[in-house]
Amino acid sequence: MKLLIMGAPGAGKGTQASALAARYDVPAISTGDIFRANIKNGTPLGVKVKEIIEAGEYVPDELTEEIVADRLAQDDAAGGFLLDGFPRTMHQVHFLDRHLADRGERLDAVVSLVVDPDVLVERLLDRARIEGRADDNEDTIRRRMEVYAGQTAPLLYHYEKLDLLVEVEGTGTVDEVRERMLDAVDRHTAAR
Ligand code: AMP
Repeated sequence: MKLLIMGAPGAGKGTQASALAARYDVPAISTGDIFRANIKNGTPLGVKVKEIIEAGEYVPDELTEEIVADRLAQDDAAGGFLLDGFPRTMHQVHFLDRHLADRGERLDAVVSLVVDPDVLVERLLDRARIEGRADDNEDTIRRRMEVYAGQTAPLLYHYEKLDLLVEVEGTGTVDEVRERMLDAVDRHTAAR
């Protein structure tokens, strides 16, 4: 299975990605987690992306794509993967399309978690209190929402046209959303 999970900041991508990856026995690959690990360890990549991420902006496409290409080349991703937080721009969509086409592969489904914007801001402020993520302060949250709406939301149309989009209502408890999502993906992939 080759899957994507998309959603605005705070939609619950990271949380639900683990369940989805476990269900299909594929690695969950989060570009955000890769960047955060590099920042924490002070690697050259981390130094390069720290300020960008803390400002709520996107890391440049070429840099992000290089990281994804390296990660997808690892053995555990040979049989499938779940990308969490990639692609986020049309440039990245084209990169992924080419990457898969070169290997004669294609995506199976693109999950989009849909959550009301007011709920999103509340969740992110809660997460800021609990996890202390540097990009979870109010100004950055607002900026991340804008960037998502401008650059990433349009990607949903692209995947809808390809009949890959599985929209899942992301409000409710973590368990409710997980069951709803797994059912929806099962139904989508069974129907293909
Ligand atoms: P996330 O954990 O997915 O919310 O990502 C956290 C931050 O990492 C984002 O707000 C971006 O600054 C950066 N980031 C993660 N994935 C990407 C991507 N595909 N393209 C550009 N920037 C990204």
